[in-house]
Amino acid sequence: MIMNLDFYKRIPQKECRECGEHFEEQAESYIYECERCFGLKEE
Ligand SMILES: [Zn+2]
Repeated sequence: MIMNLDFYKRIPQKECRECGEHFEEQAESYIYECERCFGLKEE
């Protein structure tokens, strides 16, 4: 699907190293986990 490829080109996503979920890169670029996994570790 060309449209799908174009989507991933324009919006780079990171893959959570914990659950493998894709998430948009936040301001804190050092985060390699999605907000859910990151929050679970913090608490
Ligand atoms: Zn995760």
